Formats: sequence, C-alpha cells, structure tokens
Amino acid sequence: MRILAIESSCDDTGAAVLDGPEQILSNIISSQFDVHARYGGIVPELASRCHIEAIWPVVQEALSAAGTSLDEIDLIAATRGPGLVGSLLVGFTFAKALALVRQIPCVGVDHMAGHLLSVFLEDNHPRFPYIALVVSGGNTSLFKVDNPTRFQRIGRTRDDAAGEAFDKVAKLLELGYPGGPVISDLARDGDPTAFAFPRAWLDEDSLDFSFSGLKTSVVNQVHRLKQKEVPLPVPDICASFQEAVVEVLVEKTIRAAKRYDCSTVVLGGGVASNPRLRSLMAERSDREDMKLFVPAPLFCTDNAAMIGLAGYHLFQAGHTVTPDTDAYSRSPLM
Ligand code: ATP
Ligand code: FE
Repeated sequence: MRILAIESSCDDTGAAVLDGPEQILSNIISSQFDVHARYGGIVPELASRCHIEAIWPVVQEALSAAGTSLDEIDLIAATRGPGLVGSLLVGFTFAKALALVRQIPCVGVDHMAGHLLSVFLEDNHPRFPYIALVVSGGNTSLFKVDNPTRFQRIGRTRDDAAGEAFDKVAKLLELGYPGGPVISDLARDGDPTAFAFPRAWLDEDSLDFSFSGLKTSVVNQVHRLKQKEVPLPVPDICASFQEAVVEVLVEKTIRAAKRYDCSTVVLGGGVASNPRLRSLMAERSDREDMKLFVPAPLFCTDNAAMIGLAGYHLFQAGHTVTPDTDAYSRSPLM
C-alpha cells in the first residue's frame, strides 16, 4: 500500500510517500523559519498563508522524490489536529479534496499519535506495550501505548510544555527561535551545576509536569545578574536550565515505566532530539534494565512520515474521513 502523507499542524509544511507503514520513499519538509524568526515566535495567520503557498509544491516534490505519481497512491493521510487551526485546515482540506477527486480513502491523523509512533520509522522496533514520553513545543505528556491505535495518557504538563520553556528561555536570553537547538548547543560549554534551578516533582507519585516555576526562576536569576551589571554566563544558564528540565523528564518517565510494569521506554517530539535528554535517558534506562527506543532527530521534530505511519494503522483499524470531517485544535488524546 502506497501512502501520501501530509503534515501542516504548525509552521512546517510536510509531505511524505511511504510504501506500507514503515518504508519511507520520500519525506519533504518546507520550513517557515525565515518568515517567523523576526517575530520571535510563530504568527498563526502568516503560517496559514505560507501553507497555502507551499502545500502543492511540497506534495509534488514528495511524489517526484519517491519516483511515483498520484496514480499509484492508495491512501492519503493528513494531520487532523491538534495544532493551529488555520494551518491544519490547509493540509487537511487539501488531503480530503485530493482523495475525493482521486477516489481514494483519506484518514485524519492525530499529530500526537504520529509522535508516539515515530520510532517505528527506525529499523529497530519496540514491543507493545511501552511507555512513551512525548515532549514537544506544545505538549509534554506520558502515555502507555498498547498498540498502534490505543494510547492511554498517564501524565501531562499542568502549564508550559518543555519545548515551550526552552523557547521562552531562549527568547529571554535573546538567542532566537526555536530555542531548543540553540540552548542545547550552548549548554555543551556550560556547567549544569552553576545555578540550582528548581525541579517541580509535584505531589509524591505524580506523573504530571510543571515548567512555569522553572521558567520564572530563570527570569529572576537573569534579572539579578543584569542588575549586578556582570556579563551573563549564558552557557552556564543554558546548561543549568536544561539539566533541570531533563532530570524531571527522565525520572518521571522511569517512574511511569515502573508503575505500569513496562520495561520498554520510547521518546518522541522535538525536545527528544535534545542530546542531554537522550544520554541521561539512556543511562537511567540502562541502570533500570529497561529498553530505550529513540527516533533519529529528523523523526522527533514534525515530519509527514510519522503521519503516514500512524495513518496506515488507523486505516487498517477502519477509520476514514469524509469531506465534511472537521479538523480539531485540541487532541482527544490529551
Ligand atoms: P506539538 O507537537 O506539541 O504540536 P510542535 O509540533 O511545534 O509541537 P515539535 O516540532 O514536535 O513541536 O518540536 C518543536 C520543539 O522542540 C520546539 O519547542 C523546540 O525548541 C524543541 N526542540 C528542538 N530541538 C531541541 C533540542 N535540541 N533541545 C531542546 N528542545 C528542542
Ligand atoms: Fe509536533
């Protein structure tokens, strides 16, 4: 089965062609980085306009890079939600219209399901059930994944997402957008113990997260340093902040795996490309005798291949959409 997948939930327009659930023939992503960079964050109206311009060229590029054409496509999978509704509507409506014209089935995929399953785009597959930490720009949640279409949310952030905290701290330090990659690069040269930023463990046993207190603590620290008129030790701030985020993410994931008696742990979402998160998670899961599966950074951040993969399983489970199916901005999984 040949699948054309479309992802447009946020600021990147993605299209991919897959042969079956896991063989990627092409995976194209068109970034709107330059458009939003000068505003220090995503401007939803601009994002929708850019998707409209990009969608058809990106789909054509995905088809031609895969050496195929629409005649050979058996299924169209597109992100239905969650995300910026204006952005979602462009990709999802395009997919439904194309499916209608070509008389092929269309599935509407939850973006979170894509992040939860993206590890299957790698050769080495985890076994079900597994505990997944999805840590991205808009979400930080723990799930128990029972099979490719059954996900139980067992923990979530009560305020900011981890990626959002990275982006806000980067903005405070005037490092540009998105903040995660810049902070993790600078953190390499910093001392993670330079500042004792708080870790929000919440109530004992909680699998929820909270990052707004940490963000405020970084803001206060930066103000204090600025008042002293000393040069900001930016790498130390980045390393100490990153360590505070990563430590909580790792410990809560291990806690969840123990609680649900799962010896397999999976990461997904943009923040999962953070090298410190990957190394500490590897260290801790090794010590607990758990198996860890992490997608390549390319599959952690938004991409259409993961939507094609999740869409294949939805189709197998009998879920297709009709032209009047709506996109949604909040995920029923969350
Ligand atoms: P969601 O999936 O919740 O809708 P999104 O699709 O915007 O959000 P992703 O593309 O999955 O998010 O991830 C983007 C986020 O990942 C940004 O917040 C970015 O700062 C963060 N990120 C990317 N690389 C790194 C890194 N190396 N370290 C930390 N964070 C990172
Ligand atoms: Fe995402």
